[in-house]
Amino acid sequence: MDYLVKYCENCDIEKYINDFHFRLKKSGKYYTNNICKKCHNNRSKINYSKNKDKYLKSQKEYVEKNNKIVQHDIFIQELKVNIYIKQHLQIAGNS
Ligand SMILES: [Zn+2]
Repeated sequence: MDYLVKYCENCDIEKYINDFHFRLKKSGKYYTNNICKKCHNNRSKINYSKNKDKYLKSQKEYVEKNNKIVQHDIFIQELKVNIYIKQHLQIAGNS
């Protein structure tokens, strides 16, 4: 049952094929990663800690951008209310 186990290139341990991520090729065939899920996760963690500043910066920018949109909406909402009140007062004042 050789095809059910595979060597991980990273940790050099023979593991079951279930321990590797599957990917679908354009040809429609599946192939497995050369590194096991555990090593893949570790690499992701290392990449994250290496690029932590970058991740956090883009996250911060995203939040700031969205906050601006929310603030803009509130501004527009207040403007509409002010216009409504003015119009209402004018009508009330004219009659
Ligand atoms: Zn591994």
